[in-house]
Order: sequence, then C-alpha cells, then structure tokens
Amino acid sequence: MQSILISACLLGHKVRYNGSDAATGHALLAQWRNEGRVVGVCPEVAGGFAVPRPPAEITAGSGGAKVLQGLAQVRIANGDDVTTAFVAGAQQALAVAQSKGIRVAVLKEGSPSCGSAYTYDGSFTGARTALPGVTAALLQQHGLKVFSEHQLNEAQAVLNILDNP
Ligand code: SF4
Repeated sequence: MQSILISACLLGHKVRYNGSDAATGHALLAQWRNEGRVVGVCPEVAGGFAVPRPPAEITAGSGGAKVLQGLAQVRIANGDDVTTAFVAGAQQALAVAQSKGIRVAVLKEGSPSCGSAYTYDGSFTGARTALPGVTAALLQQHGLKVFSEHQLNEAQAVLNILDNP
C-alpha cells in the first residue's frame, strides 16, 4: 500500500506561521490514517523556522520553481530573505518522500512551501499567482503527484492506481 505525504497542518498540527493548524475533517484523511499510510511533514519547521513566524511570500509572483533555480526569493514583509530555509525545508520533505517511496502528496493550498494551484505573489496584498510553492515544485520535479486539501478524491484515485498496478 502506497504511503502519502501530507502537510502537517492539515493533520491538525499547529505549525502554521500564525500558530494555527488547518485540520480538515474530510473522511478520506481519516481513512488514510486508519490505513496507516499517512506521513506528515511541515517543510517550514523542517527548514528551521519557529512557530509562530512571520508570513512569507515568493517574490514577484515567480513560483517555487524559480526559487529552486535561484531566480526568485522567499521574503517576509520587511524584505528579509528567508529563501535558504524554504529550500532546505523542501529538500527535507523530498528526502522523507523518497525514503518511503512516496509518489503522492496532499499539501496545504496557498502556502509558499506547500501551495500547488496557487501561491501569493510577493506583494503581501492577498494577490495570487497560479504557480506552486517551493516544496510542491520540488516534489513535482521529482515525479510526485501533488494535490491540495481540495483534491482528496483525486489523490485517492491515484492511490487506487498505484495500489493496484
Ligand atoms: Fe502547513 Fe506546509 Fe505551512 Fe508547514 S509549510 S504550516 S505543512 S502549509
């Protein structure tokens, strides 16, 4: 049975920048837990950040792939560059996934680490860009299928295929 990498905040861990969690009561999450296939990770905590911490965004609507290429940064609102820790956290998440042969992830939407369909554009105005965060981009580059908490059924469909090759 395939394991699945899941953002720790979606599992109820209070690791978000503001000290909250993002727990979802979706039945599939409970099912996956009962099946013993859930592997939780918080890339930002893994990268060395404390809880709480200042919110951060990827500069200029660039998305995580450009951060990984060194063509964009992750910054907090005062301009401080926190890119190194974001990349380190992404690499930690990838290492966890690879150590367990994980091919599917469900990550918290909108986060500069975990967002998949969108992230915020670096202006700290709430404006979005349709590009993934740093961890989501790195996992995708290594062949993982990355879904958000709004796509649990889609993730289950991929698990069904992987569980029954
Ligand atoms: Fe949740 Fe990901 Fe942010 Fe950690 S880095 S709090 S797992 S969204």
